Amino acid sequence: MEVIATQPLRSFPPPSEVASLALALVNELAALNLSDLSKFLIRRGWEVVFQPLGDEASAIRSLLVPKGNGQFRVVITSRCAYEPERVEWLVAHEYAHSLFFVDHGKARRLVPWVEAEEAFCDAFADQFARAQGRAVLADAS
Ligand SMILES: [Zn+2]
Repeated sequence: MEVIATQPLRSFPPPSEVASLALALVNELAALNLSDLSKFLIRRGWEVVFQPLGDEASAIRSLLVPKGNGQFRVVITSRCAYEPERVEWLVAHEYAHSLFFVDHGKARRLVPWVEAEEAFCDAFADQFARAQGRAVLADAS
């Protein structure tokens, strides 16, 4: 299995790093002639699944579950029927969260979660979508 070249983040990144991190992922996909992030991650043993998250009033759209061995499960709520582009945006958001983990068989957070991580992951997903020529969907929720 190929190893994702992107290194885990050892500290909370400044906003200026978002674009280069997103571009690194775009380049990894381009090198494989892929435009679909979900497919790219599934090839690496990730899962992208749809489940009802939270109760009916829940605003939770997606979450990331470490599987170990550098792999994660992205869970997208089935309570909303998201367009494929929106699903990709959510997958990119969750991928950005994975950068905060280090994995030596068992995933462990390197950087404790802080509220600002959500804005970082939104900005990452926006940059990724933009670089892929897709609409920026951050405020489409
Ligand atoms: Zn998030």
